[in-house]
Amino acid sequence: MFRNRFLGAFLTFALLAPTAALAQDLRAKSAASPNSTGAKSAVYTAPKAVIDKIRDEGTNHSQVVQTLSYLTDVIGGRLTNSPNMKRANEWTRDTMAKWGMQNAKLEAWGPFGRGWSLKSFSAQVNEPTAFPVIAYPKAWSPSTKGAVTSEVVYLDIKSDEDFAKYKGQLSGKIVLISRTREIKADFEGMGSRRTDEELAKMAAAPDPSTVTAPQPGQQQAPTPEQQERARQFALAQKMFGFVFDEGAAVVIDNSRIGSGGTLFVSAASVAPLPTPAGQAAPQGGGFGGGAAARARSAAYNKDNEARMVPQLTMATEDYNRIVRMIQLGAKPKMTVDIQAQFHDEDLMGYNTVAEIPGTDPTLKSELVMLGGHLDSWHSGTGATDNAAGCAVAMEAARILIASGLKPRRTIRVALWSGEEQGLNGSREYVTQQFGERKQAPPVPAGQPAPPVDVVKTANYDKLSAYYNLDNGTGKIRGVYMQGNSAVRPYFEAWLAPFADMGAKTLTLSNTGGTDHLSFDRIGLPGFQFIQDEIEYDARTHHSNQDTFDRIQADDMKQAATIMAAFVYQTAMMDEKMPRKVLK
Ligand SMILES: [Zn+2]
Repeated sequence: MFRNRFLGAFLTFALLAPTAALAQDLRAKSAASPNSTGAKSAVYTAPKAVIDKIRDEGTNHSQVVQTLSYLTDVIGGRLTNSPNMKRANEWTRDTMAKWGMQNAKLEAWGPFGRGWSLKSFSAQVNEPTAFPVIAYPKAWSPSTKGAVTSEVVYLDIKSDEDFAKYKGQLSGKIVLISRTREIKADFEGMGSRRTDEELAKMAAAPDPSTVTAPQPGQQQAPTPEQQERARQFALAQKMFGFVFDEGAAVVIDNSRIGSGGTLFVSAASVAPLPTPAGQAAPQGGGFGGGAAARARSAAYNKDNEARMVPQLTMATEDYNRIVRMIQLGAKPKMTVDIQAQFHDEDLMGYNTVAEIPGTDPTLKSELVMLGGHLDSWHSGTGATDNAAGCAVAMEAARILIASGLKPRRTIRVALWSGEEQGLNGSREYVTQQFGERKQAPPVPAGQPAPPVDVVKTANYDKLSAYYNLDNGTGKIRGVYMQGNSAVRPYFEAWLAPFADMGAKTLTLSNTGGTDHLSFDRIGLPGFQFIQDEIEYDARTHHSNQDTFDRIQADDMKQAATIMAAFVYQTAMMDEKMPRKVLK
């Protein structure tokens, strides 16, 4: 699941105008849409014997755990464009081909940027007392020049005035760049499932386009919280520029959440270029910009290697201790050795795709898609984010093949890459295959929103629906309908046989952060399932503990079974899945 820590701060500025325009457009159209009542008289449902067969294969003959174990234990973390990512692309392609799927191949997109792999790493405190620390280099961090042993400096900067006292003090030093963070006892426990109350609230949620949309052209003032986040972001950027200019040898930040040795680590930060006098500082990438815009300031852009200090994230207990030591007058020394390799031989990204060919003479040229992202962050093995979703999507296809079912439409599994850097693989694939949304210019206050402009390819009308799984290891509890009420009768009928497995909730709400958005944003039916949380945000999502042992095997089997049934029935119905109207 994609998470941009600065997105919130810039949401108002970067995304408001197009979001408002889209919401307005949907509101205007939904009243006139023949699909909006969802009153389809005969919804296709597979015979009970078929559903029973899918359930038996998915429950009693499941391969999902074996698939997941190979992806995580043998291949490991799958940073976009790393050698492990390539191995995962090839292994998933070969595995699906072995199961009898057709047209199994890698599809290029991009260019994305360079790959990175960690060759060796060590970090420890040597003085005044020796102890190892729990830490992990950030992705695309440059190597240190051999093992660096140095005094540790805590960069205690809260405002612009604080920079002066560190001027000339950081050359060759190991620098702690973030604040300490209080750790609280975990009285509640980390794991959770969605409660009945929570699901009932989701089911009652109104059409998102009728509640959250500001009027077109209305520029909302940022909240104090957004202003503070923007200020913190600007300060952090300035600090990275400062330590770079001052010649620090290593930069260490504090894991932003987590405890008990769990740390959350993503990409290295690039020192911003000095802003010419009189110009506004450039903003961070975020989902609003294109892949090329994001790559400009990204660590995976080769041009930025010279503007990065070797850097790592440390577990909070160790980080806090070293800061406290400094505040008590000790002068700790550390040794840090990061040896990493950049991979520049192929800058293209790759998605894995494979098909179960359709059997209906007319409908076989149409598509039903399912998938999740195969790339991950690098400190764990990307088990819940998102080997889980990939193993489930693959398993759903395997279930259909093993059950001897012959779908009318072609079913295509897609395993994306570049998701963690901004949904790149799915978005570029959708652009290539189906079409592209043209960004509307900002609307002046009081003027009506222009129609959303989608440039469609010939395949646009061939896709029925895309189903995504990327919210961890939790079982499926229902589906986010993305404001498309016309799909309700289908999904209601298809969830009914799985009510005993805990899946029965439909919500009109949107959910974000993952690859169904690439379809949804150009008006194609793209859905993410509602899943149980388990330990996703508290422990595993982007952490060094996102490993096979955090996987709930029975949840994975349930998810694959339900996904198989949804995909099969979408491939069997006469009509395509109704679309929400997007001019
Ligand atoms: Zn993620």
